[in-house]
Amino acid sequence: MAQLAIHGGPKVRKKKFPAYRFVGEEEKQAAARVIDRGILSGFIGADHANFSGGTEVRVLETEWAKFFKVKHAIAVNSATSAIYCAVGAIGTEPGDEIIVAPYSMACSAVAPLVYGAIPVFADIEKDFFCISAESIEKRITPYTKAIIIVDIFGLPYDVQKINALAKKHKITIIEDAAQAGFAKYKDKYAGTLGDIGIHSLNVHKQIQTGEGGMVVTNDDMLAEKVRLIRNHAESVLDGRGVKSIRELVNMVGFNYRMTEITAAIAREQLRKLPILFKLREKNVAYLAKEFEKIPPLTASKIRQGCTHSYYQQALFYNEEITGISRNLFIEAVKAELTAYELRETEGVKISAGYVKPLYLQPIFQKRIAYGSHGWPWTSREYKGKVSYQKGICPIVELMHEKKLITHELLRPPMTKKDLDDVINAFQKVWENRSQLQ
Ligand SMILES: *Cc1c(COP(=O)(O)O)cnc(C)c1O
Repeated sequence: MAQLAIHGGPKVRKKKFPAYRFVGEEEKQAAARVIDRGILSGFIGADHANFSGGTEVRVLETEWAKFFKVKHAIAVNSATSAIYCAVGAIGTEPGDEIIVAPYSMACSAVAPLVYGAIPVFADIEKDFFCISAESIEKRITPYTKAIIIVDIFGLPYDVQKINALAKKHKITIIEDAAQAGFAKYKDKYAGTLGDIGIHSLNVHKQIQTGEGGMVVTNDDMLAEKVRLIRNHAESVLDGRGVKSIRELVNMVGFNYRMTEITAAIAREQLRKLPILFKLREKNVAYLAKEFEKIPPLTASKIRQGCTHSYYQQALFYNEEITGISRNLFIEAVKAELTAYELRETEGVKISAGYVKPLYLQPIFQKRIAYGSHGWPWTSREYKGKVSYQKGICPIVELMHEKKLITHELLRPPMTKKDLDDVINAFQKVWENRSQLQ
C-alpha cells in the first residue's frame, strides 16, 4: 500500500508539467514586421477607408474567413467583446429574454445584460454538457429573442435539434465557440453553426494572442453591425449614410479594436491550429482509454457527427463505486500531481466540476447589473418573470456537485510519460481509497 500524498506520502509526480507554449519564432517575426512598419493600429474611428482596421487586421479577417469557410470574420480585442458585439448586432431590445448556458465562462451568460436583456438559463445535457434542446424549448416565452449557445469544453452543440427549434420559434442563435477552435459538426466549423459565432484568442485557448477574439457570420447585415459596434458606431453613422443600413439599433459603439501586432500574431497562430488540434486529439485518445481502466471513472463521449477540440477533457465520477465523495477523491489526486510551468500559481489543472452554475452567482442572485434597483429585471420593458433559484437546472447542479471532473492535462507538448503520471495519480488514489475513508 502506498501512502497517499494528501496524507504526506510521496507524490506521483514532482516535476511541473510542460508549458503550453506555441508562440515562437514565427510570431516574433510577425510582431517585428509590424513594429518595423511603425503602425501599431490601423483603425480610424470615423467614416474613413481605415474604419475597418489596418493591413494585418484585414488580412487576418480574410484568412480567418477562408479557413473557417465563412463569409465574414471580424477581429476584436477579446471573445467577450465578440459576444457583446453579437448581442448588439442581432437587435436585442431591453426586456428581451436570451436563453443562456449555466455551465460556461460568465461572459456568455451576462452578455444579454449589456443591452438590457434578461438571461434565462437552460439546463445541460447529461452526456455532453451543452444546453439541451428539451430545456431550451421549456424556456421559450413570447419574449425570447435569442440563444447564446456554448460549445462547452470544445464539443459543438446539438445542431440538428436546436437549429430546428430556433427556426420554428424565429429565434437567433449566437454560438460561443471560444473553447471550440477547430471543432466541427459534419464539415462545418464550430462558430459557423448558428447565425453568428465567436472565437477566442485568449491565452488559455487552443491558439492565442494573449487577448483577442473573432466574430464570424455569413450574414452581411450582422457583419456590418458588428463592425459598427466594434469601432465607435455613433461617430460614423452620419458619414456612412444611415439610410443604407436597415434596422439600425444599438448604435452605442465601443472600442473593441484589435491591434496590428495582435493580428499579425493571430495569423501565425491560425497556421498552427491544425497541428495543435491533432496533438490534443491524440493525447485525449490515449487518456480516455487509460481512464476507462479505473472503475469509478468514465470518459465523456463525442456527439455523433462532431469533432471535439478538447479545450478540456470531461470525465464522470461514480461515487457509489468508491464510497468517497468526488471532491475528496479529486483533492487526493491533485495532491499527487503538479502545476504547469508558467501557470504555477493556478495549481494542478484538474477540477471537481467546472464553474459554479452561473445563476447561483451573486450578480443573478442579488440582481446587481446596473445601479442599485435591480435594473434591467425591474425595468418597465421586462414583462417576463425569470427565476434563478437553486434547482432550476437539476442536471448542471448534479454534475457540478457530484459527477463531473474536468482537466486540462492534455495539452501538447505532454509526452506519454507526462500522461502516464496523470493516469497513475488517479490509479493510486483509486487503489488506496481506504486511506480516505
Ligand atoms: C474564454 C471564453 C470566453 C471569453 O473569451 P475571452 O477572449 O477571454 O474574452 C467566452 N466564452 C467561453 C466559453 C470561454 O471559454
